[in-house]
Amino acid sequence: MHDGQEAALPLGASLPDGARFVGSAPTLPPGWRPGDAPTEDDLALCVACGLCLPHCPTYLLTGEESASPRGRIAAMREVAAGRAEVGPTFARFMDLCLACRACEDVCPSHVPFGRLMEGSRAQIEPLRSRRERLVRWVGLDVILRRGWLTSLAARLRPIALPFVSRRTRALLPRATSGGRVQRVTEPAGEPRGTVALLTGCVQDRWYRPANRATARVLARNGWRVLVPRAQGCCGAIHAHHGRLDSARALGRRNVRAFAEADLVIVGAAGCGAHLRELGDLLDDDGARAFASKVRDLMAFLHDEGIEPPSANPGVERVAYHDACHALRVQAIREEPRELLRSIPGLDVVEIPEGDRCCGAAGLYAVTQPETADELQRRKVEAIASTGARVVASANPGCTMQLVAGLRAMGADVEVVHPVELLDRAYAAEEPRFEGPQQG
Ligand code: SF4
Ligand code: SF4
Repeated sequence: MHDGQEAALPLGASLPDGARFVGSAPTLPPGWRPGDAPTEDDLALCVACGLCLPHCPTYLLTGEESASPRGRIAAMREVAAGRAEVGPTFARFMDLCLACRACEDVCPSHVPFGRLMEGSRAQIEPLRSRRERLVRWVGLDVILRRGWLTSLAARLRPIALPFVSRRTRALLPRATSGGRVQRVTEPAGEPRGTVALLTGCVQDRWYRPANRATARVLARNGWRVLVPRAQGCCGAIHAHHGRLDSARALGRRNVRAFAEADLVIVGAAGCGAHLRELGDLLDDDGARAFASKVRDLMAFLHDEGIEPPSANPGVERVAYHDACHALRVQAIREEPRELLRSIPGLDVVEIPEGDRCCGAAGLYAVTQPETADELQRRKVEAIASTGARVVASANPGCTMQLVAGLRAMGADVEVVHPVELLDRAYAAEEPRFEGPQQG
């Protein structure tokens, strides 16, 4: 215990009746450890009104205050006040959070819950077992930080499969074949402008067709598309899982890689949401300038306008899946739906309770199997109820989760990025222009 601090009490001991925390007795010094942590200013914003509770998937599943945004913030405040420790109980409360940010979206006090959770997870990281830390270091800091290693890992999937858990095996997609997206894709005529494309790590190794479709659709609509080769993983998954220094290093790398770009287009919702907040994480003007250039692909196409496709790609009905980091963090809802509705003969249908997280949430699908499975089951059953044979999902983590869930229930439903449907619709048109030039 530090000088002048009170003895540690169990989390929630100072809360009013009804705010129930279940956990072990404290064994560590109370208060935050040195390093990244939630700030007093951010914590002070919560007025404990509880308006976020009905929107929180983990509260709805458990009915426990400790699994709600308000309960998690109360736990953080207990630690911040030096009345509780960053111990296993605290870690359990935080780890069950999906970081979906539904709470932040509806909070009248604008509590930056995502930032609070990132600080809390950074505090928890040293508590993890040696094995957990080793696995995270290899996966996040060794493999994802190096594009060539990510590609190699994707190619080695068949060899690695026997050594990974059944859950991971179910989630891992097959690596996509074919070359990378060209460094430059030219439109057919005079460009409207030039954009730079973030191809991502998981998206580019496992869902490369979506990136290729992105370049074609942008070029089809008059944009010159550049793919800076010095770019890397955006660092979102590192930030969400408490590895903030790694996220900062990756952020700086991308700020440098896109220094010449006027606009940075991102097709993966999780990456876009993270990069648009990079100024907060790096806390410098360069990062803030970079963040102001980042645009979500579907929002960009919608806002700048596209030439509506004149043909249907052989799909009558598509269910649109809202990724939390598009809907909740970037307030993107109507833009992708309107773009898809521009495809002739395509009916865009809503997924019941579509604003609920699918349970993917970065590593969550592997680390919190019970909650992730339940949310996945509810989501794929809701998708199946729409009768759509195609789902549009603009986030690779959600796509993995949906594919695995739909496969497990034996549903014959294809999951694609919405831009792939636009691309297919253009491809289905009568040839009437000289396609984009790649070089
Ligand atoms: S996070 Fe926001 S909505 Fe939730 S209890 Fe606090 S102030 Fe209310
Ligand atoms: S981020 Fe999602 S799971 Fe976590 S407290 Fe907020 S609503 Fe609940």
